Amino acid sequence: MNKKKIFLSFPHLGGNEMHWIEEAFKESWVVPLGPNVDHFEHQLEDYLGDGRVVALSAGTAALHLGLVMLGVGQGDEVLCQSFTFSASANPVLYQGAKPIFVDSEADTWNMSPEALEQAIADRYRVTGRYPKAIVVVDLYGMPAKMKEIGDIASKYGIPVLEDAAEALGSEYRKAKCGTLGRFGALSFNGNKVITTSGGGALICPDNETAERVKFLSTQAREAMPYYYHKVVGYNYRLSNVSAGIGCGQMEVLPERVARRRAIHDLYSTLFKETSGIAVHDNPSEDFDSNFWLTTILFDENLGFTPEDLRQHLLSQNIESRWLWRPMSMQPLFADAPFYGDGTAERLFNHGLCLPSGSILTDDDVARVADAVKAFLQSKA
Ligand SMILES: *Cc1c(COP(=O)(O)O)cnc(C)c1O
Repeated sequence: MNKKKIFLSFPHLGGNEMHWIEEAFKESWVVPLGPNVDHFEHQLEDYLGDGRVVALSAGTAALHLGLVMLGVGQGDEVLCQSFTFSASANPVLYQGAKPIFVDSEADTWNMSPEALEQAIADRYRVTGRYPKAIVVVDLYGMPAKMKEIGDIASKYGIPVLEDAAEALGSEYRKAKCGTLGRFGALSFNGNKVITTSGGGALICPDNETAERVKFLSTQAREAMPYYYHKVVGYNYRLSNVSAGIGCGQMEVLPERVARRRAIHDLYSTLFKETSGIAVHDNPSEDFDSNFWLTTILFDENLGFTPEDLRQHLLSQNIESRWLWRPMSMQPLFADAPFYGDGTAERLFNHGLCLPSGSILTDDDVARVADAVKAFLQSKA
């Protein structure tokens, strides 16, 4: 095999990252907090156009502090999208709370508003209480149906935590993902739209909440001359060195998002005449996904599994990935209640994530599409 390896989503540096890292070294700001962290947060705030941003050590840390800020504690129930990465749900367990999983709907692949409302009604019937929070995910960059979900959330007075880890740059009705719930979480892990090598951010509604998140993320140390603590603290702040990478990445973010969308468009064109597979697309004008990953679904009656296609691509030196295995199908969450009709499970069994990194060339994308088509022909 002499064809070069095509990766799913490889880091794509902008060129200026080292400049910001050198700034940190020049000033010996090789610590958590510092000027790069402040600058990175301001860049994100300008880009998002709404909310106050606190940079943290991971997207998972952002989701955890989001739940803390919403007052989720021991024994509370938290509604969570089932079709997602486990990092959306694990922080519910960190808080000693109970995840209640909600299925997806076919348009966006995200939380079904109908299943959400059924879940809320049923939890009230069973426990006499409403769940404490709703964790909605913008999966693969596709915004969830936030209007419908927001209406249900306000009807029952339950706040929404938006997991926008995969959706930096995506828009729903012209508003940026991450700003659509009461709190929003972003991730800058190595495979996301931009990277800080590892990091995340919590998007907060105002200064007061942002200051509280900064306080909690730096060990919750009260303003006293000695170390004095009244509440549990965390060591979740982003390092000033990592933030330097983020400062450089923010300078090229619009280009990176544009490229991911162009790759999705190219796949859509290349598969236009191919029967049996469909490229997941924005369901209407309200949705403008960043297409962090381009995903496909294939006909249920073609007689192969995602693993068959994944192995075929691997034999061509192409990395692809199964869709997220729903939380309702994970041994870790076997006891958690689930509300839905099996939509996410069907997607999981008939889909695949294709290489989508902004670093890919048009030729790379064509090579992937050709390999998929050759596989389909061999099955026809
Ligand atoms: C990546 C990801 C996270 C976690 O972010 P980390 O920065 O890796 O902790 C959370 N939710 C979803 C949906 C993700 O894809």
